[in-house]
Formats: sequence, C-alpha cells, structure tokens
Amino acid sequence: MKLYEFQAKEVFARQGIPVPRGRRASTPAEAEAAARELGRCVVKAQVHVGGRGKAGGIKLVETPAEARAAAEALLGKPLKGFLVHHVLVEEALPIAAEYYLSVTIDRTPKRPVMIASAMGGVDIEEVAASTPERIARLVIDPAYGPMGYEVRMLCDRAGFEPRVRRAVGDIAHRLYRVFVESDASLAEINPLVVTEAGTVIAADAKFDVDDNALFRQQALVAYREESEEDPIEAEAHRRGVNYVRLNGDIGIIGNGAGLVMSTLDLVTRYGGRPANFLDIGGGARAEVVREALSIVLMDPNVKGILFNIFGGITRGDAVARGVLDAVSTMDIRVPIVVRMAGTRAAEGLKLLEGSPLIPAASPAEAAKRVVELVKQRR
Ligand code: GDP
Ligand code: MN
Repeated sequence: MKLYEFQAKEVFARQGIPVPRGRRASTPAEAEAAARELGRCVVKAQVHVGGRGKAGGIKLVETPAEARAAAEALLGKPLKGFLVHHVLVEEALPIAAEYYLSVTIDRTPKRPVMIASAMGGVDIEEVAASTPERIARLVIDPAYGPMGYEVRMLCDRAGFEPRVRRAVGDIAHRLYRVFVESDASLAEINPLVVTEAGTVIAADAKFDVDDNALFRQQALVAYREESEEDPIEAEAHRRGVNYVRLNGDIGIIGNGAGLVMSTLDLVTRYGGRPANFLDIGGGARAEVVREALSIVLMDPNVKGILFNIFGGITRGDAVARGVLDAVSTMDIRVPIVVRMAGTRAAEGLKLLEGSPLIPAASPAEAAKRVVELVKQRR
C-alpha cells in the first residue's frame, strides 16, 4: 500500500522528522486559503508516483491567487496516468542543498538497508546508473537497528556537509524506527533539504507499507480509504480479492496473474475491452470464485464475463462448482464464457453441461465468443 506524500509526511512528523508546514487541498479555494496562511509556497499534485516535478506536478507560487490557479491546473486532471484528487500546499523552502535518504529491504542480505546520497532531488536511479560512487549504503542488523557510529559513517560516505550530520543522523534513526514500526517496504525522503540557514527538513516523502502487514497496521489502513478512488477496488481489497478496475465492459477472471494478463490481451485483440483484472490465485475454491464473480458484477459496465482457468493446484471441478453455486444464488444477467484446462478440467466442463454457462475449447475461442456476445448487447 502506497501512501500519498501528505499522508507520509503526517507519519514522519509523528515520529519527529521535520517536515514543511503545509495543508492538503481538494479545491482551488482551499489551496488559495492555505497559501494565504503559508505565504510563498509550492503546490504539489498528490499522486502515487514519483517524478512529479519533471512532469509539471510541482508548482512554485508567490501569491494566494497563483496558488489557486496552480491548483486549478492540477486538480481533476491526470498526471503521469493518475488522476489528481488533492494537492499539498506547502511553505516554500530556501533550498541550499538536496540530499537523498531512504530505508528499504535489500533482498540479498534479507535485511533493511539505509541509502544516503548528497545527490538528492533527482531520480536516485539515475544517480545509481551514472555515478554509483555517490550513493552510500548501510545494511542494518535488525536485531540491533542502526548504530550511532554506523549512521555517522554513512553520512560521511554520502558526502553530507559536516554541519548537518547531527541533524541528518537524528532523522535517519527516526526514519528507521518508523520503517520498522509500520512494517514499511520503503521509507524515502528525496529531497532531504538543507536550507540556507542549515536546518534539515523532509521536502518530499514516500512511504510504502507491506500489504501483508496491514492486519496489524490499523492506523495506516485508514489512509487507504482516503487514497482509494475506486469503491469496487476498495471493496475487493477488504475481501482480499486481487482486482484492478479497467474501463471496458468484459469482466475477466482467471488464475495466475500472467494468465489473466494474457487473457486481457486476447480480449483486446479480438476487439473487446476488458472491464477489470482479477486473479483468483492458485488453489481457488468455490467460495473464492463466488467472491470474484460478485466483485466483477459490482461494475455496472460489465456486459459479459470470461473465465480463463488453467488447472494446476486449482481444480476445474472446484471452479465449476463455484461458478454454478454463484450463478444459482446470484441474479446474473450477463453471459459467462468458461475456458478450462488442466487438473480436472473435463470434470469441471461436465458439471457445467446443462447450465447457462458457455464452454470454450481454447483461450482464443473463449475471447472471440465473449466479445461477440457483448457486442450484441451494446
Ligand atoms: P517528485 O518530483 O515527485 O519527487 O517531487 P518532489 O517533492 O521531490 O519535488 C521535486 C523538486 O521540486 C525538488 O527536488 C525540489 O527541487 C523542488 N521542490 C520541492 N519542494 C520545494 C520547495 O518547498 N521549495 C522549492 N524551492 N523547491 C521545491
Ligand atoms: Mn521527490
């Protein structure tokens, strides 16, 4: 789960990491009011993606009227493929230097790693590619956390100015603490700004929480409600269904992300438009299948459904039972095409005989069939 910058900064501030004064705004009027309070400021589009600066999502403004205009230009419009619902209006900082500081998991030593660089503000991936020697890393023993001397050496290797090392070190320890306590997979500050007066402050914040830990991160789950724009996706998450809403009219359900993706491609190739991605995963039982169908049918655009099941651990007969069970208990008014292969596929298809479900021999045939049926209903 990704947090928005304004949410991440709330989390960081609670941990004592200095962040700029700021207000979230969802309308141009709110942005204008915030700017009146804050003075010269930056208006920042809140989307779950980095590189907003280069894409025009960060605007420096001098007056409340300019803040209003900047918010108007950003709100309700897409930025790097994401619709902007909120902006963050923040006091502008007198920037002297931009550093980079983050904590993430390094899968090779299977430990948290702290990454620091004096080349902040730009894409860290670019720095890593062109001048890797400018990036310093500290692999952390989770039993002890980062030691004071280790962090001091990291700051030294990163090339941080001596006068700010104490302040940066303090932030580094707090960043590690919030990373561990929140079961984060990434806690990143880029840029960590050194102001002209020599104070250190987190001008940007990225925070990703491991979805598998959300059961014990209730305080953070509240942020998800706030950040999730699509109500069906939100409901799917609550029920533990792996669902992404798309804008077509053919519901897609399959097992395995790769199979579902290729099914989306096939449907598109035969002239259809997928309404969603939904992966029921391996070993899916009847209950899971029913849940999946009910999520897909929450989308009123759906005019037909394609099931593409490749039985491995997942058994064809179990899926067939799930579909039949769902069809008999739910009021389904759209055609459902089923393609099944692999473990107990024959048994599954046999169970479907005599039901309104439409069997198909291959993925291509299934895709063609569902596209035809949906076209008739448009
Ligand atoms: P990102 O591009 O999505 O990573 O967004 P950032 O929040 O990192 O902003 C990109 C760049 O905008 C930063 O590297 C800064 O150079 C600039 N910027 C961000 N905040 C401020 C600010 O408060 N004052 C000034 N002058 N520049 C800022
Ligand atoms: Mn940034």
